[in-house]
Amino acid sequence: MTQLSSQTLQRTVELLSSWPGVGRRTALRYVLYLMRQPPEYLKSLAEALGRLPEEVQTCQLCGNYADAPLCTLCQNAKRSQQKIICVVEDIPALLAIENTGSFQGLYHVLGGCIAPGEGIGPEQLRVRELLDRVKQEGIQEVILAFSPTPEGDTTAFYLHKRLQEFPLRISTLARGIGFGNELEYTDDLTLARSILQRIPYSPMQG
Ligand SMILES: [Zn+2]
Repeated sequence: MTQLSSQTLQRTVELLSSWPGVGRRTALRYVLYLMRQPPEYLKSLAEALGRLPEEVQTCQLCGNYADAPLCTLCQNAKRSQQKIICVVEDIPALLAIENTGSFQGLYHVLGGCIAPGEGIGPEQLRVRELLDRVKQEGIQEVILAFSPTPEGDTTAFYLHKRLQEFPLRISTLARGIGFGNELEYTDDLTLARSILQRIPYSPMQG
């Protein structure tokens, strides 16, 4: 694509074109759309973006995004009374399950899956934090809700082993989800059914 007639436009297109799923052509379309919006809208947008790194923090318990040390889900007494933690790989997976409206317990964002090839072991993930929570919060059930991928299976197997010392139920999503599919991209109905009809975790099911 040729250089634009304005350096400022050019720079904005370059910034947007690094977004997931957005190439230069789409970025240009977005910038042209923005140019047609009222200046107040653009100022609010810029301000909201600028506040993200300053004001959004990570929940000290579950690892979700929050405006305070604890996120709104962890602050919800109805949820913590359930004594169930659903362990997910990342925040998009948490949001996918939360969007189904079928789960009322707490979450724990692990921050990835075990992938020895990429140098990601349990120490790089929030495993210690999970075990501490299970102990301190008197958790009665842990749902291992990973995407059905080799990394997800390895991580579930590892956590299952580490959780053996606690008197709790370990379950996993019912397998309505195609192998290799990311939870984030699984349709709501399938995901809702998978969490409601969760099954006891068994290391052999792979
Ligand atoms: Zn939280």
